[in-house]
Amino acid sequence: MSFAELGLHPALIQATVDLGYRHATPVQTAAIPVALGGQDVLAQAQTGSGKTAAFCLPLLHGWQQHYQAGLRRPLHGLVLVPTRELAQQVGAVLEALARGLPEQPKVVTLYGGVSINPQLMRLRGGADLVVATPGRLLDVVDHNGLKLSELAVLVLDEADRLLELGFADELASVLDRLPSRRQNLFFSATFPPAVRRLAGQLLHKPAKVEIAMEAAAAPDIVQRAIAVDEGQRTALLAHLCQAEGWRQVLVFVATKLATERLAEKLRRQGLSAAALHGELSQGARSTVLAGFRAGHTAILLATDLAARGIDIAELPVVLNYDLPRSTEDYTHRIGRTGRAGERGMAVSFVSAATEAHFKLIEKRQGLRVAREQIAGFESSEAVLPTTSLVAADGGGVKGKRKSKKDKLREAAAAEATRTGGKD
Ligand code: AMP
Repeated sequence: MSFAELGLHPALIQATVDLGYRHATPVQTAAIPVALGGQDVLAQAQTGSGKTAAFCLPLLHGWQQHYQAGLRRPLHGLVLVPTRELAQQVGAVLEALARGLPEQPKVVTLYGGVSINPQLMRLRGGADLVVATPGRLLDVVDHNGLKLSELAVLVLDEADRLLELGFADELASVLDRLPSRRQNLFFSATFPPAVRRLAGQLLHKPAKVEIAMEAAAAPDIVQRAIAVDEGQRTALLAHLCQAEGWRQVLVFVATKLATERLAEKLRRQGLSAAALHGELSQGARSTVLAGFRAGHTAILLATDLAARGIDIAELPVVLNYDLPRSTEDYTHRIGRTGRAGERGMAVSFVSAATEAHFKLIEKRQGLRVAREQIAGFESSEAVLPTTSLVAADGGGVKGKRKSKKDKLREAAAAEATRTGGKD
């Protein structure tokens, strides 16, 4: 079903388009209209089912309606999650989906393991939507940082993990502080007895949404960004194909000429690579595609336009050798992996020159991807903020300081650039 049929605010429908969601997933189709109607929801949904948007969209819609009617409360929605990572993720999805609304809700994420003071500061003047782990939420409430007594909507995300991680007491304590009149949206992947008891205690005449695992259509895509100097990208691509055993990778490059030149270079290194671009005859295109589909060609180098028509189920890896110009293209590109519910991987090469552009893509997508450095191919350009240093052979983390070998490699790359040999 399309998002336009679910009764959402037009800006939220547009946000789903901007994020590259073409159709609502089954859990979204079932839960959103019920949630918009004000009823409680009990949903069985796994990660990857699109469950986050299934509660974020109604939360934002409801907040917008209240705001427009002049009924802004001190706190509209509270999402309880089991982990810091999930809190950050849900916060980012709320912000990304809210971006086009006429007014922006204040979204605050609260989790432990970091100083509470910045979180208390951020809560000054209140918050519209809070995403929190239960322990830190209670700390914040004890510091008088937040009042829960006028909450309109409570969301429990991954309720089974909340209980597994031992949050039962904290949850009970939070629930005690909530107003009795409120809407509850309850999401859990599994329903062991403790989860069922909690649901029974919390929910009032809920609509039940059960989505079988197989029906979860939203792709599960791991996104990676690797910091690398421009002149090292071809070598790194060849290295990754081998080190990570990529058997089928769709590589996006900026120009027709570059698809040909890169394919040639990779073939010279003994890899099976082919170029796909608009100037090939229909026959040549078909041959190239058939070779890639059948697994004879491991690396397909394509421009955005040429790649439009490629529909290969379960493409395991998509690589942005050159970054796309727009966020929309980014979404289209990564949508080529992890299709039909399969897990996929989207890798982007990011250099000092393209770092700012990639940041913009991240911002528009409402996500943040840690920059990796691959041992032996570390970026020499200091402006890159690196959050992780991962050795390609999985052999642990490498130090930031360059080895002699790295310096030699860089010097060779610089020389190649100077003499026009850069890829
Ligand atoms: P979740 O189950 O909320 O963890 O979502 C899993 C992934 O599916 C996330 O990467 C979402 O961005 C993506 N997603 C959510 N809804 C849709 C949709 N309607 N169509 C395509 N992808 C979606």
